[in-house]
Amino acid sequence: MYQLYINTIGCQMNVYDSDQIERALAPSGYTRTDQIEDADLVIVNTCAIRAKAEQKAFSFVGRLAKLKQRKPGLLVGVGGCVAQQEGEKILARAPQVDLVFGPKAIPRLGRLVERVRLQGLRVVDTEDSEGIQELDLASGFRDDGQVARFVTIMQGCDNFCTYCVVPYVRGREASRHPDRILEEIRTLVSGGVREVTLLGQNVNSYGRKENLGTFAELLARVDRIKGLERIRFTTSHPKDLSDGLVDAFARLTKLCPHIHLPVQSGSDRVLERMNRRYTRAVYLERIARLRRVRPDIAITTDFIVGFPGETDADFKQTLGLIEAVRFDGVFAFMYSDRSVAPAARFEDKIDEAQKKERLQRLLQHQEVFTLKASKALIGSVQEVLVEGLSTRPGLAEDQTAHRQWSGRTPGNKIVNFDHDADCAGSQSVHPGLLAGVRIDKAFSHSLWGRPVWIEEKPGGLRGDTCHAA
Ligand code: SAM
Ligand code: SF4
Repeated sequence: MYQLYINTIGCQMNVYDSDQIERALAPSGYTRTDQIEDADLVIVNTCAIRAKAEQKAFSFVGRLAKLKQRKPGLLVGVGGCVAQQEGEKILARAPQVDLVFGPKAIPRLGRLVERVRLQGLRVVDTEDSEGIQELDLASGFRDDGQVARFVTIMQGCDNFCTYCVVPYVRGREASRHPDRILEEIRTLVSGGVREVTLLGQNVNSYGRKENLGTFAELLARVDRIKGLERIRFTTSHPKDLSDGLVDAFARLTKLCPHIHLPVQSGSDRVLERMNRRYTRAVYLERIARLRRVRPDIAITTDFIVGFPGETDADFKQTLGLIEAVRFDGVFAFMYSDRSVAPAARFEDKIDEAQKKERLQRLLQHQEVFTLKASKALIGSVQEVLVEGLSTRPGLAEDQTAHRQWSGRTPGNKIVNFDHDADCAGSQSVHPGLLAGVRIDKAFSHSLWGRPVWIEEKPGGLRGDTCHAA
């Protein structure tokens, strides 16, 4: 048996890919460890979306040189988007690296690692094959107690936003067959998973190329899976948000009332230069449509500040959009040059200090709305899917550190409640149970409350248990 340590950098897709790496290596005798010192193979699953993420990957790889000196048999692999982008160059730059593989090489990983281990070769596999190669489901999923998991439904992207590296490192858009997706979700559910998040760079165009049915149809099939409680998805591109998908929020009982709809900018001029192919007015109209069918829907977004040529007037339009939409939360990033993406060659670059200043202003502007959205829930009873115990300091009346249960509302807000909370009857709490939590306090990034009911489901659950008083 060998020990495998994976350092995952980047988005949910990389979290999913790291699970796939683990599955691909299981037949070769690898089991995952959290202790890097115990590892026989260390893999860093990299992200190339911004320069910072790339630097983080190289600095981790740098630190592995020392570990390898202490443990000469250690193998080091670099996977993910930086691996796809840099290929052989990584071997030249980092002599401690034995293996470089792109996201599409994951199903071949067992063979690649064996070539490194048995033949002592340094191996690069960044082949960009068409379509999707599936891992054998028989290689199974490790039951690590998670009750909410990601499931990739498509790979790659055909949109070519001018700032973005994804189409160059993840390849052309390709969708998985719905039967395989359903099979995977059923396997997860039979292992105790109750919530899935379907992943793709633009889930709205799921199945279009391959004629596999629409995303709304896929959602309807997932909705019928017995034992599955909640469905989420990300990311949805505003230009392709169909009426069918909007209607799904009204029709499907398991689809959570939350959508992450990245807008990037509030200025039409900037949106055009980004090649986003929608206008501010179209975006606002889609938001209105979503709120018509599902008034309680939580809406979050991504912004890029300091895109080349972004003027003060453009930035003001972005602040204005925040007011117009009243997002529940935002992720905001300073524009980062990616050499393969066209915007790297745009003129009128914004200097770092100005980007930083705009980022701060945007976040401050949004803070009011984030807090408002959270405060609106005070006094309500929210259904929370308990995910586990959090070790952060408690927020109970006496302000002492408590162990607390943590989970999410259907609108994706984090809720904490006391480990020893007094709740209805003597029902015990487990990860994977639904609990009704009355919200007492609201913070920017979490809520705090007291359980008023806990689902009765004694069998098939695992993890920590708390018997409420
Ligand atoms: N497919 C998604 C979409 O269309 O919105 C986005 C995926 S990307 C992994 C996540 C976010 O990273 C984007 O929404 C964007 O805000 C940000 N991002 C992408 N490229 C960037 C860049 N070059 N500089 C800064 N932020 C970037
Ligand atoms: Fe990148 Fe645009 Fe594709 Fe999203 S839609 S992954 S931002 S190219």
